[in-house]
Amino acid sequence: MKPTSVTVDRTAQTLSIEWTDGHLSTWPLDGLRRACPCAGCAGGHENMGHLPDPEVFRQPASRRWEHPEVTAVGTYALRIKWDDGHEAGIYTWKRLRATCPCAACTA
Ligand SMILES: [Zn+2]
Ligand SMILES: [Zn+2]
Repeated sequence: MKPTSVTVDRTAQTLSIEWTDGHLSTWPLDGLRRACPCAGCAGGHENMGHLPDPEVFRQPASRRWEHPEVTAVGTYALRIKWDDGHEAGIYTWKRLRATCPCAACTA
């Protein structure tokens, strides 16, 4: 599964990915920051493979993220540099698709 487009909407505070199968995933930026998959945020290397609790995408945002910098990592992932300087998280397509918070995926 690969994206056909990746869009950051700073007004809406969301990141959206449209996938090759036509599915659209939209995450709140603050939820993605909280779901950062790096070892530091996940609580150790042994937890890096675990998917985040879907609740993190439903919680109200703790702050706004005005300048997230999204860059591709090879052909398999995104790196997001956040306003707080953190950029250790590698968000793979596989992980992102598995955490799609839309109603169909979380049903
Ligand atoms: Zn992190
Ligand atoms: Zn979905």
